[in-house]
Amino acid sequence: LKKLFTSSFRLGILGGGQLGKMLTLAAAPWDIHVSCLDSSSDAPASTVCHSFVLGDLKNYDDVLKFGEALDIITIESDHANVEALKELKARGKIVHPDPEQLKIVQDKGSQRQFYADKNFPSPRFELFENKEAIQIAVKKSVWSFPFVVKTRSAGYDGKGVFMMDAMEDIEALPEASFVAEEKVKIVKELSVVAARNGKGEVVCYQTVELFPYPDAHLVDYLICPADLSEKITKEASDLGRKLIEAFQIQGLLAVELFLDENQKLWINECSPRPHNSGHHTIEGAWTSQYEQHLRGICNLPLGSPKMKMPSAMLNLLGEANASGPVRYEGLVDCLAMEGVKVHIYGKKETKAYRKMGHMTILGDDVNRLKEMIHEIKTKVKVTI
Ligand code: ADP
Repeated sequence: LKKLFTSSFRLGILGGGQLGKMLTLAAAPWDIHVSCLDSSSDAPASTVCHSFVLGDLKNYDDVLKFGEALDIITIESDHANVEALKELKARGKIVHPDPEQLKIVQDKGSQRQFYADKNFPSPRFELFENKEAIQIAVKKSVWSFPFVVKTRSAGYDGKGVFMMDAMEDIEALPEASFVAEEKVKIVKELSVVAARNGKGEVVCYQTVELFPYPDAHLVDYLICPADLSEKITKEASDLGRKLIEAFQIQGLLAVELFLDENQKLWINECSPRPHNSGHHTIEGAWTSQYEQHLRGICNLPLGSPKMKMPSAMLNLLGEANASGPVRYEGLVDCLAMEGVKVHIYGKKETKAYRKMGHMTILGDDVNRLKEMIHEIKTKVKVTI
């Protein structure tokens, strides 16, 4: 890391989506040279990074070739090729998150196993080779409805999450291997973003409450801070801290949690990278999650995660019935509202529920933030 702050330090990001774009922008003040690898030539980060490499982050050769010319390699997508990252590490490159840890996270089954082995609160689960095996388990009453089934790998934004309420739901599952999970009676969905550097220093951002989009398993908006008792707030950040320590991750770990009707917290899943649930830290915190990730992976002192003020983040999702070249409505009106910041990722095409941008809303009062979210939702449209 001697080259850091010499203007010739080269950071590689596997993935050039919105997270890669915002991470690239956070590297600019330190004059870091950023390369991004993505399979789409008009990926969001392509317009802001110094060198953009067309290639598949899941492909061994593409990742190896990409990483060879760089000083440090990180990810913006959990699906990067782990074997290539291991090889880059063996060749002396700095790779964060560690490929072994990323491998655990990539598989929702091994994530659950990790939580169980380390005694983290996580729903009861079982691994299944295929849907027929789940049918047998239900017939034997090992599992009973309702429960949740997830494909073990390659899921994101709720793709690969299925609610099981009847035998027909099992029948309708795709061909894949699965993890079945107890269905938690969720009263709140929360997220804690933790950060750690190589000296073992750890900080956590304030817990946020995630509000899911009706009928789609993805986040509509979030509010920071979450409306929780002091006790639960502390328990949530303690879980974030303990989990990043258990993984020994350098950089960020975003931890999604469920709070159930008995006020018990459960770990849903985690991601060792900047996360959708930390976007609001760009404007809302003393140190954004993106700068924090750079500090963590470069083994620098961590920045203060303190919030400047309450904030909200609204995902700008593609309209359900529109797919094609994107058109935004209502943004100018929203910019006239106090504390509203607009982020457009630059994806050319919209489709149902695609994350096309987000808005951060800053304010003194959480209730006012909620009102503003609802007002913005009546104004903004992501359509064709
Ligand atoms: P993804 O990785 O695609 O975001 P998640 O594992 O976060 O998928 O699941 C998406 C959503 O599905 C969650 O936000 C939650 O609303 C619901 N969900 C997932 N697992 C469970 C569970 N065990 N019990 C109840 N609801 C769940």
